Amino acid sequence: MQQITIGDVSITSIIERDGPWRTPEAMFPGYDPALGREHLANLDPVVFDPASGKMVITYQTFVVRTPRHTILVDTCTGEDKNYPAPMDFPKQPWLDGFSAAGLRFDDIDYVFCTHLHIDHCGWNTRLVNGHWVPTFPRAKYVFHKREYAAWEAATETGANPPGEVWRMNCLPIVEAGQALLVDDDFTLDDTVWLTPTPGHSPCHCCVNIKSGGQRAVVTGDLMHHALQVREPGWYTIFDWDTEAAVQSRRSFFASVADTDTLILPIHFPNPTVGLIGSDSGGRFTYRFRRG
Ligand SMILES: [Zn+2]
Repeated sequence: MQQITIGDVSITSIIERDGPWRTPEAMFPGYDPALGREHLANLDPVVFDPASGKMVITYQTFVVRTPRHTILVDTCTGEDKNYPAPMDFPKQPWLDGFSAAGLRFDDIDYVFCTHLHIDHCGWNTRLVNGHWVPTFPRAKYVFHKREYAAWEAATETGANPPGEVWRMNCLPIVEAGQALLVDDDFTLDDTVWLTPTPGHSPCHCCVNIKSGGQRAVVTGDLMHHALQVREPGWYTIFDWDTEAAVQSRRSFFASVADTDTLILPIHFPNPTVGLIGSDSGGRFTYRFRRG
């Protein structure tokens, strides 16, 4: 994604991994192949790889620079976590992207996690002398308190997910005193705030950005693919509460459709940023914004 500007705020992306990833059949239990083909024929070609039949899925972090703060939203899978394939992405592309953005670890003031899944909190921590420590030494990390509590409880039962994700990526931040465990209405300032969009995870949130009369929303995993803009009812195999996930998508799309609010879905491929519209059939559309 090229850098975008919202008033006095710039937003750019650090990509950990991109390319064809999963088939829609493997991702959406309710997938209807005939309907899917129809939608794919009309969607932007960057979202699907016809040769493999797989959706193109990117893993990325957004860097949000406001006049006051340098913020990361979602931190990919990270390094040294020993995740099994296919989540064992090489770490160098993310590190190279971080440097190319002109950043050092101690430049980061805030880290927001839309939710605490494996691919959204990885670079929260690094392994130093056998211990997980916060990667960004000056940063405050914003976690929804009930999202954090839910993964803590799931960890205690030995569930996988989360496996070791919460222990490696979240608990050490709290132990280091760098976590802000927040509620649905958390507002950093008049530029950055959260809104709850639960379902994909217990307390998934979107990160809203407003400046100079313009607005953008980092939508995390509210949707993984543009097919879900056309079919909000197609929940994924990863959703915590499928009904809530569908409801969050529908109400979010209705709230931003046909406005100039820029949408930043973590897993949408380059150019990522786009606008939600509505069509005459009462469905929603996703139009990538280029240039
Ligand atoms: Zn994700």
